[in-house]
Amino acid sequence: MHQKPKIDRTLRTPEDLAAAGLLAPDAIAAAARVGARFEIAVPPALAALIDPGRADDPIARQFVPDPRELVDHPADRADPIGDQILSPVKGITHRYPDRVLLKPVLFCPVYCRFCFRREVVGRDGGMLRPDELDAAIAYIAADPGIWEVILTGGDPLVLSDRRLRDIVMRLARIDHLGAVRIHTRMPIATPERVTDGLVAALATSQAMHVVIHCNHPRELTEAAVAACRRLIDAGIPVQAQTVLLRGVNDDAATLETLFRSLVRHRIRPYYLHHADLAPGTAHFRTAIEDGRALMRALRGRLSGLALPTYMLDIPGGHGKVPIGPDHAGPPGPDGARRVADNDGDPHIYPGPADAPRLPRPPQS
Ligand code: SF4
Repeated sequence: MHQKPKIDRTLRTPEDLAAAGLLAPDAIAAAARVGARFEIAVPPALAALIDPGRADDPIARQFVPDPRELVDHPADRADPIGDQILSPVKGITHRYPDRVLLKPVLFCPVYCRFCFRREVVGRDGGMLRPDELDAAIAYIAADPGIWEVILTGGDPLVLSDRRLRDIVMRLARIDHLGAVRIHTRMPIATPERVTDGLVAALATSQAMHVVIHCNHPRELTEAAVAACRRLIDAGIPVQAQTVLLRGVNDDAATLETLFRSLVRHRIRPYYLHHADLAPGTAHFRTAIEDGRALMRALRGRLSGLALPTYMLDIPGGHGKVPIGPDHAGPPGPDGARRVADNDGDPHIYPGPADAPRLPRPPQS
C-alpha cells in the first residue's frame, strides 16, 4: 500500500481527497464538477481503507467521485424506486400496506457514489422540522395497518442520542407497531458513533432491528465488527444488506468472503440488491443475468445462513421482488416440474397426488 497522511476528519471536497492522497491533483477539477451535483464525504475509517496505489480499489470506487457520474444513461431516474410518488406526508414513504419508511434526516456519514437517493441526500433542508416529524409520526399512529417502521434517510444514526431516543420512544408508544428497523451505514463508516449511549437510546424499543449496509469484506474492520457487537450484545439483531456493484463485489469469491465474515460476526446477510437506476450510476450496474449467475455459484458453496436473497426494487415504486435464480421450472400437464440442482443438472419432481395421470406411452 502507498503511504498516505493520517486522516482525522471527514474529507468533503476534492481538495481534501487530493491532500489525503486519494485523488490525483489532475483529477480535482473533474471531481469538483461531480461534487457540485452529488455530495462528497469520506470519513476517516473508510479513507484509511483505500489503497491509493490501486486504480481499481473497491473501497475507492464506492466513495471517491468519478467523472462517469455525470454521464446520463437513458434508463436513469431521479427517483428510481418511487420514494417521492409514494409519500403521503413529508418524511414518510408508504409503499407496502404494513410498512412505512420514516426519514427524519437526509444526511449521511459517507456519500456512496451509487446511492439510490443521491438526488436528495446531503442537501439543505435534509432534516424534518419538529412539526413535520410530529405529522409523520401522527400518520403512523393513525393507521393500524402499519406494523413496521423503517427508519432510514440519509442515515438516522447521524441524529443525536436524545433525538433518536425521542423518536424511538414515540414509536414504542404506538400499540399496533410490531417492529422498528434502522437502516444505517454508521457502524461501517463511523464505528465510534456506536457508543453505549446510542445503543441505550435504540434499546428502548421493544422490537428494534438494525440493518447495516456493507458491500466489501474489507469494510468489516475490527472497529466495525466491535460496533455491531455492541448492538447485538444489547439484544438488537443486526442484519446486512449489500448492493451488487460492478468492479466492487461482482465476483463470487468476494461475496463469499463477505457473507461468511458477516455470519462469523453474528450478522445475517439479508438482501443482495441489484443496483438501482440512480442518475450517473450506470457504470456500477451489472446485468441481472450476472447477478443470477453469482447467486447460482454461491448457492452451491454457502450455507443458507450465509446466503442473502437477490432483490430488485422495481423502478417506479412497484416494490422489491426476489429475482432468483429459479431452480424449479413450470409444471407440466401432470404437475411434474424440472428442478435444477446446484450444478444446473435437471431432475424431475412429481406433481401433487391428485394431479391428472397422463396415459402411459405405448410399449413397443
Ligand atoms: S449511506 Fe445510504 S443513503 Fe447515505 S449515501 Fe450511502 S447509500 Fe445513500
